[in-house]
Amino acid sequence: STRSTLAAAPAATTGDFPAVDAAVARARASFVPDLDLEARLDRLQRLEDLLRENREALQDALAADLGKPPAEAWLTEIGFTLEEIAGIRKELRRWMAPVRIPVPLSLAPARSRIEHQPLGTVLVMAPWNYPVQLVLSPLAGALAAGNTVVVKPSEVSATVSAVLAGLLETYLGDCVSVVEGGVPETTRLLEHRFDHVFYTGNGTVARIVMAAAARHLTPVTLELGGKSPAWVDGSTDLRTAARRIVWGKFLNAGQTCVAPDHVLGTPGTLAALEPELVRAVGELYGKDPRRSGSYGRIVTERHLDRLTGLLDQVPAEDVVCGGAADPEARYLAPTVVRSAPDGPLMAEEIFGPVLPLVPVESAEHAVELVTARDKPLALYVFTEDRAVKELFRRRTSSGGLSFNAPLLQLSSPELPFGGVGESGTGAYHGKFSFTTFSHARAVLDKPLAPDTLRVVYPPYRGLRALL
Ligand code: NAD
Repeated sequence: STRSTLAAAPAATTGDFPAVDAAVARARASFVPDLDLEARLDRLQRLEDLLRENREALQDALAADLGKPPAEAWLTEIGFTLEEIAGIRKELRRWMAPVRIPVPLSLAPARSRIEHQPLGTVLVMAPWNYPVQLVLSPLAGALAAGNTVVVKPSEVSATVSAVLAGLLETYLGDCVSVVEGGVPETTRLLEHRFDHVFYTGNGTVARIVMAAAARHLTPVTLELGGKSPAWVDGSTDLRTAARRIVWGKFLNAGQTCVAPDHVLGTPGTLAALEPELVRAVGELYGKDPRRSGSYGRIVTERHLDRLTGLLDQVPAEDVVCGGAADPEARYLAPTVVRSAPDGPLMAEEIFGPVLPLVPVESAEHAVELVTARDKPLALYVFTEDRAVKELFRRRTSSGGLSFNAPLLQLSSPELPFGGVGESGTGAYHGKFSFTTFSHARAVLDKPLAPDTLRVVYPPYRGLRALL
């Protein structure tokens, strides 16, 4: 068959990875097709226990990999995921219940319903920037839907990867296996057939993941990134806007997929915003952010080199604040710079604590710039002007759109979180996680008597009258 020919074609040459193969085989063997509510709730309870009982170990690992302050670790990783799990546990019975659907008169008598089934064994691949949340939050959805799971944490956040591997084995070893490692292990992993692949990361690897999944016709969810713009205009309270932008941008040292990547505004607004941004950086991180207990670190020296390489291309007079780096401490100061719309900082997602201010002529011009690029994961509009809100709402497309506050669109559990176009495909969180990891099966039940189907049997005597 086509399927077996494709599946048999070799991918990249890979070596022997018995541990990878064994992890997949174990997850597959432990799949139960009709796992009941109690068993699913028990798994979610154990995931919650894992987080609650090991909060300190996880915080320490996040501090080691990303210099993540404990409050930030709670807000964006541990507490965030606990809330996601709590929301799912509360609603799961309702989501699992078959949905009765009325049949059209022409099919009567019959009953029909939608039943949500687990998909089977799914793969969750996560990046390093929120290495706890981005493993455990999709995992909660996959388990709630009754699947078994292979988890692949990022090797870049190596401490968290090792801690999670140990904890998941202890708490959920009967339904979750963890594969640790880098490109060779992941390449091998992706040769296996999964029933769904949920990938969070960058667009280049997403193409590798999707191509590997295509060989087995495996559906994918791709949670990607890109440059998320923020528009600011003079109708807004610039002091509050600046504080919120600084918070959203410099959280996790700018390594956030939905961080405002750059600010678009008219030259007049940007000139007024500059001192407010500088003031906000001082308010949130003090005079010397290096000594702040609330400011994270860049994940590796290689990632820091990329960011300082970008900053080297910015003339000194365009640096509004920050710019200092300390490679040994993997530190890069919260930095605000001026940039032309086609400047070197505008080529790719910055993914670090560097905020370019980009002058445009008007809101219409900003919309043109936004729509000329890839559809962003997030779009932020700081304005009190209803016409401007309407303009961005109607004329742009993005994974999410948030007025006057960054990041919050993803912490509302009833909103879908996901991208569109280059920023990803599919969505999750809450009910959207349950549907992502379930198959909605159409079920119809028709009595044999009376045989009302006679009208559609050849030679179509009943139908002819209607034609
Ligand atoms: P990363 O380098 O950790 O990669 C993510 C995963 O891909 C890891 O598990 C890694 O092992 C695997 N991988 C890397 N190279 C591979 C290869 N050649 N073949 C197979 N697998 C491979 O993380 P990253 O991609 O640098 O993460 C940052 C990106 O993720 C940014 O673009 C960011 O915007 C995006 N992101 C998106 C979201 C979201 O929810 N939409 C969240 C966080 C980050």
